[in-house]
Amino acid sequence: MADRDFDLFVIGAGSGGVRASRFSAQRGARVAVAEDRDLGGTCVNVGCVPKKLFVYASHFRDELADMTAGYGWSVEGVGFDWPTLRDNKTREIERLNGIYAGLLEDAGVTHVPGRATLVDAHTVEVEGRRYTAENILVATGSWPTVPEIPGAELAVTSNELFHLDALPGRILIVGGGYIAVEFACIFHGLGVDVTQLYRGPLFLRGFDEDVRRHLADQIRGRGIDLRFDTNVTSIEKRGAGIRATLTDGSTLDADRILFATGRHPKTAGLGLERVGVELASDGAIRVDAYSRTNVPSIWAIGDVTNRINLTPVAIHEGVCLAETLFGKGPRSPDHEFVPAAVFSQPPVGTVGLTEEEARDRYGEIDVYRSTFRALKHTLTRSHERTMMKLVVDRASDRVVGLHMVGPEAGEITQGFAVAIKAGATKADFDATLGIHPTAAEEFVTMRTPVGG
Ligand code: NDP
Repeated sequence: MADRDFDLFVIGAGSGGVRASRFSAQRGARVAVAEDRDLGGTCVNVGCVPKKLFVYASHFRDELADMTAGYGWSVEGVGFDWPTLRDNKTREIERLNGIYAGLLEDAGVTHVPGRATLVDAHTVEVEGRRYTAENILVATGSWPTVPEIPGAELAVTSNELFHLDALPGRILIVGGGYIAVEFACIFHGLGVDVTQLYRGPLFLRGFDEDVRRHLADQIRGRGIDLRFDTNVTSIEKRGAGIRATLTDGSTLDADRILFATGRHPKTAGLGLERVGVELASDGAIRVDAYSRTNVPSIWAIGDVTNRINLTPVAIHEGVCLAETLFGKGPRSPDHEFVPAAVFSQPPVGTVGLTEEEARDRYGEIDVYRSTFRALKHTLTRSHERTMMKLVVDRASDRVVGLHMVGPEAGEITQGFAVAIKAGATKADFDATLGIHPTAAEEFVTMRTPVGG
């Protein structure tokens, strides 16, 4: 054991890999991490962080409309400059890349730049050099999936969106998940003409149905051309732009087409088959409750395991792994009541079960729902309406689901997630006083169930 180069060799310096590396090193392990792209992975470079900066940028249009319509401000000479936003964002991401490098260095983790492949259960090769390790952690994340249709190469994915040379006048977005919805709202907010297509009858599959319906209404109300039961069958170049042919035979012209049609675990070319690591049918690395693969010295966390593909989940899995390998003992990650947000406009916040899931699990449930116009909009021309919903297990009185579509939904849901995780009952919610006037107080003032 002592003659191996490292106690842990991590492949992938994204959210999960970096956290596992640092926490393991802090517990005395000799750790190396290999990365063939920028430090920080998808979240920092082409995901959560730059996306949220773009969300902020796209909100100002609404703010301007609200302040001039109802609050007495007058604003002149307003314009938006895409290169300024893009380049400021890139500078901030580069700053974060440097911070990640510093965090690894401070923790005593060896950074090995380059693409790593598995040679055997204890050996990794990077740029022709071999490293041995007692344990190997695969934290390579996921990569955008592009449908195999004629002309698919003319479209972009979320990887390229952050670096576009010019803001398109018109964009077609394909998909109905997190990324499609968020970018439809971002581009619309930046003044782009947006069409979003989803192949099924209602987007955001897996979210509570009231959330899905309410958000669809809000998005359409803003002027996004949101079409369901529609997909793209082929794409061709058309002058300076692109033409997409849709499933109903019609065509749509755009300057850009974005495929936000899911992501797949990044397992290709890693040498996993050579070492005998089992994959699930979706290509994800199969792991047990402690993130261990069928090869005892090889572990995997984050999107590459396709459990819950969110940055805080990957980080949590990394912390648990460091604890299991070098800490107090085996700790398995907890995937129950994981809160999440979709940074659409308005945004979605959710924690716990959907109404449908709760009915399946508990049978008897109570549902509380409230839809209202936020106080701010009593003075604006906005038609935006907020929706809040609680799902309660009737037998235990526990609040098992909390959902919201409305401003600051992510911020509000994060706070309530503590209560839900702690097992708060509806009686606890009722006993909590509101903060007036806020939107969030609605969660503690709903008294009459709407169904169940
Ligand atoms: P999602 O899995 O959320 O959504 C993929 C969408 O594409 C679904 O609507 C799916 O439809 C559709 N789709 C899949 N294949 C095709 C196809 N061949 N043709 C047309 N449509 C297709 O993936 P995303 O890419 O949006 O996001 C990836 C992951 O990243 C998310 O699951 C999430 O975990 C994470 N993420 C989280 C964010 C956050 O926390 N705010 C933000 C962005 C990403 P169907 O439903 O019918 O399968």
